[in-house]
Amino acid sequence: RDNKMVLEVESRSCNEGLARIAVAAFSTQLNPTLEEVADIKTAVSEAITNCIVHAYQKETDMITIECSRFQRELTVVVQDKGKGIEDVEKAMQPLFTTKPEQDRSGMGFAFMEAFMDEVLVESRLGEGTTVTMKK
Ligand code: ATP
Ligand code: MG
Repeated sequence: RDNKMVLEVESRSCNEGLARIAVAAFSTQLNPTLEEVADIKTAVSEAITNCIVHAYQKETDMITIECSRFQRELTVVVQDKGKGIEDVEKAMQPLFTTKPEQDRSGMGFAFMEAFMDEVLVESRLGEGTTVTMKK
């Protein structure tokens, strides 16, 4: 590992922007193109928004964002200790959402997969979710 950053924020929408910018700043040490930075920001934004709207829903709790660099690869891990996902495979399908009534389009995971090279989702009901993304 060549460098690492760990950031812990409360699950508030204002912190989504903060974390997105921190990850983008961290990513600059890999000399990314503007397009790559934009991709990383979009993916991180989707993962953090999911923690805020799904994992914790009404209460506020901590979200951990871990960035690390190994040679030319960036790894971003977004972790919550919220409600967890019942069926990860189903949740990751494009257009699948458990909140259609709240204007959710079910595209968050699809964007993460489109904009990052690797997306791994691990989740346990009642324990939380960890999304690991690589680019
Ligand atoms: P969109 O991202 O387009 O606003 P969405 O959030 O519903 O809609 P995805 O981000 O693809 O779509 O997530 C799909 C589903 O997976 C969600 O509707 C939710 O049920 C579940 N989910 C995603 N992330 C989490 C999480 N961190 N904790 C609990 N459930 C989650
Ligand atoms: Mg989402």
